Amino acid sequence: MRRLLLEGFLKSPLTERLPAPDLEAGRELARRLEGAARRRLGRSLAIRQVDAGSCNGCELEINALNNAFYDLERLGLSFVASPRHADVLLVTGPVTKNMQEALERTYRATPDPKWVVAVGDCAFDGGMFAGSYAVAGGVSAVVPVDLHIRGCPPTVQLLEGLLALLETSAGRAAK
Ligand code: SF4
Repeated sequence: MRRLLLEGFLKSPLTERLPAPDLEAGRELARRLEGAARRRLGRSLAIRQVDAGSCNGCELEINALNNAFYDLERLGLSFVASPRHADVLLVTGPVTKNMQEALERTYRATPDPKWVVAVGDCAFDGGMFAGSYAVAGGVSAVVPVDLHIRGCPPTVQLLEGLLALLETSAGRAAK
């Protein structure tokens, strides 16, 4: 026991060191996102997340948007519990056949104007689960998608993707 404790103190950890976070870049991205939401909607952006069959890796990254590092709620970007209060549906995973109807109903329950963002490689085309007997396909096989955010899982691309979506739709609306 003493030997194990001593080794624990003397040996360096086996895990890789975390890269130093670029705090300012993350904050700047979040501020731009808030500004774009206010210009486009006149208020903050309400996001409803739908897990259509993911492995939960994408959810870990989405949850991280609300951690103390990004803390998106402080900028008025909120995750809401009902699609009836949402502007954006953030859909993860390949759409499993069990979740297909739930996704269609969630889409219909979301008021216009609304956007659907497919998050992750699985949401794009089924990813590593494509072709499975239990999978209907990527998100666009079930509901119209406005933006795909690729990655397995995507990380800071989530913020970049939401920002691009709002800026593009704001530009379209201004024309
Ligand atoms: S894209 Fe990767 S992390 Fe996201 S649900 Fe698919 S396998 Fe999981």
